[in-house]
Amino acid sequence: MTFENSLAFAQNLDQTDKLAHFRDEFHLIQKDGKPMVYLCGNSLGLQPKRVKAAIDQELKDWAELGVEGHFDGKNPWMYYHHFLTEKAAKVVGAKNSEVVIMNNLTANLHLMMVSFYRPTASRYKIMMEVSAFPSDQYAMETQARFHGLNPDEAIIELKPREGEYTLRTEDILAKIEENKDTLAIVMMGGVNYYTGQAFDIKTIAATAHAVGARAGFDLAHAAGNLHLQLHDWNVDFAVWCTYKYLNSGPGGTSGVFVHERHGNNPEINRFAGWWGHDEKERFLMKKGFIPMEGAAGWQLSNAQIFPMAIHKASLELFDEAGIENLRKKSELLTGYLYFILKDFTEHLTVITPEDPAQRGCQLSIIVKQDGKKLFDYLQSQNILPDWREPDVIRMSPVPMYTNFEDVFKIGEALKNYFAS
Ligand SMILES: *Cc1c(COP(=O)(O)O)cnc(C)c1O
Repeated sequence: MTFENSLAFAQNLDQTDKLAHFRDEFHLIQKDGKPMVYLCGNSLGLQPKRVKAAIDQELKDWAELGVEGHFDGKNPWMYYHHFLTEKAAKVVGAKNSEVVIMNNLTANLHLMMVSFYRPTASRYKIMMEVSAFPSDQYAMETQARFHGLNPDEAIIELKPREGEYTLRTEDILAKIEENKDTLAIVMMGGVNYYTGQAFDIKTIAATAHAVGARAGFDLAHAAGNLHLQLHDWNVDFAVWCTYKYLNSGPGGTSGVFVHERHGNNPEINRFAGWWGHDEKERFLMKKGFIPMEGAAGWQLSNAQIFPMAIHKASLELFDEAGIENLRKKSELLTGYLYFILKDFTEHLTVITPEDPAQRGCQLSIIVKQDGKKLFDYLQSQNILPDWREPDVIRMSPVPMYTNFEDVFKIGEALKNYFAS
């Protein structure tokens, strides 16, 4: 599509957008009685309006039924995770048995590493992207130590070439080849939180497997953002949070994918709890762990009903919109933002790749001078991007609730700022 930087053009795209009505499903942040252009969905997605009724239902069942809510509630708590599986599986391109919603992201990452990082004397290395999200860095560091290894020796960091901001796929694959005899696992993001770069998950997983290593992904910035196909891409495991693009509330629950070739293997090492035990026998309180089939066999505790009720309501919207449709709109919407930002290359650099295959909806921008000042100015103009030290402004026009006119407004604000 040939874009135009004009209000009429943006409004015309909004009029023909089949997903436009989903904006009304959300509480848009208001400032001085006007909705803000919210660009922080990569950090905390907006609240879907239908969440309140979903929470109220569970509060009501608890008030009226007490413990009987486990079986007699509208959504019996005993089986609660089942109610989320199908829709969550669709969002990440998995079979139902390969997905479970539970716990929080970093906790799940550790649980997956317990099962899939099994270092030996010769094959013990973990490969990850340099400057990964700190929680992932700490998780990998302490996983290495847990096995008695020195993290500086066990962890290989993938670094961009001199003078570049993002990784080249060819360099990632070469690094895997280079370490083919010692590599135990590749564990990296699906989309890097800082640069916004989306990695070629399929090719990375295939290359890791070809050298005898495993491939796991942290999809915190990819789930609900990219059109993922985890089953077909053959990744070993993946984890994600639900409060970013999946709009399921601060500190919300998390998702786990375990490929079926592992999920149905009861021999696999894991840290277990009663909720992962065979459902038919769970309340027999017997000795001897028998895992449920699939990802559900990694559950530890009884379901956290309130965060999961939020996620359940939010997943309905993804189901109604369709992740493929959202991604299609997202490519166009962020493409429009990229186009608008090109008018300001004298003042700023977009470090996220322009190629839609290498990005999600987020663009990361380095302002040549005094980025924090521009960030403050945008806020004063009812536009809310986010700021990441040392010098990046991240803008994520989320297709579920952002429109093309919002993106046009960003361009207008930048024009005014740089003209003054
Ligand atoms: C957001 C994010 C986290 C946060 O972890 P929590 O356990 O949910 O607090 C971890 N890793 C990555 C890559 C993230 O983007």
